[in-house]
Amino acid sequence: MTLIAQIDESACLGHGDCVHVAPNVFILEGDVAEQVAPGSDEALRNAARACPAGAIIILDADTHAEVDP
Ligand code: SF4
Repeated sequence: MTLIAQIDESACLGHGDCVHVAPNVFILEGDVAEQVAPGSDEALRNAARACPAGAIIILDADTHAEVDP
């Protein structure tokens, strides 16, 4: 399964945990995370698990169904 991530900007608290876990995929733009590269499924899952705000939503790239990280 190929995964994609969506960032819920209204939920993002800007802690940067996702940037710490997946620095090649996420950056902080001001106080909101932004995805700057596709990232591996593992990197996306790890970032979503690390997010204290639950602001990173993982989706199946084909169906766009939400996937438990
Ligand atoms: S870990 Fe979550 S709350 Fe923190 S910057 Fe990333 S998306 Fe935002």
